[in-house]
Amino acid sequence: MHVLLCEDDDLIASGIAAGLNAQGLTVDRVATAAAARGILAAAQFDVLILDLGLPDEDGLKLLKQLRGQGVELPVLILTARDTVSDRVDGLQAGADDYLLKPFDLRELSARLHTLVRRMAGRSVNLIEHGCLSYDPSSREAFLSGQPVDLSRREQALLHALLHARGRVLSSEQLKDCIYGFGDEVESNALSVHIHHLRRKLGSHIVETVRGLGYRLGVAGKDLTSEDCQ
Ligand code: CA
Repeated sequence: MHVLLCEDDDLIASGIAAGLNAQGLTVDRVATAAAARGILAAAQFDVLILDLGLPDEDGLKLLKQLRGQGVELPVLILTARDTVSDRVDGLQAGADDYLLKPFDLRELSARLHTLVRRMAGRSVNLIEHGCLSYDPSSREAFLSGQPVDLSRREQALLHALLHARGRVLSSEQLKDCIYGFGDEVESNALSVHIHHLRRKLGSHIVETVRGLGYRLGVAGKDLTSEDCQ
């Protein structure tokens, strides 16, 4: 499970990260809402743990904005605010769960697993891109309705490109999406995955933007988008 932790208190954040790591979860940490936005646009996560008292803005504002953009990532709010109206505000903003500080790490972990399980059972709309569709929950890709067999890394790469909706992503951003912290990354690994994705989904699916990175192009086995029905 890939967890994004948005918490500005370094002591709390490192405690959570260490605890969840010990249970086999991968945790990326950010300390501001701005950093959370950046990493969410570039990488794929299974769940977000969100502190409400962030230095740059209120966590609730970030959450409302993400939901407004259609982001369905499960969100667990972590906060010291414990009035009923705070909880209602959090749930209305689109939080899936709410945990009060101080809390027990085992409870946090149990709740994260519950959220991710629930999400997996939820029907998520397919991401449509021309004749390509991708189901983020099952990680299945279809080209003109035909299933395409993608490796785990290729799925992560495709999802990152689809999620960025045509924005250019640097090689570093893409590597962050397809590799976890402990992974050995060969220097040409990204090029290899892009090559495979082009072979399977058409040579125009990934556009190279010289000097900057890559962005989503047109799907289809060497067809124009009009031909691809
Ligand atoms: Ca805080």
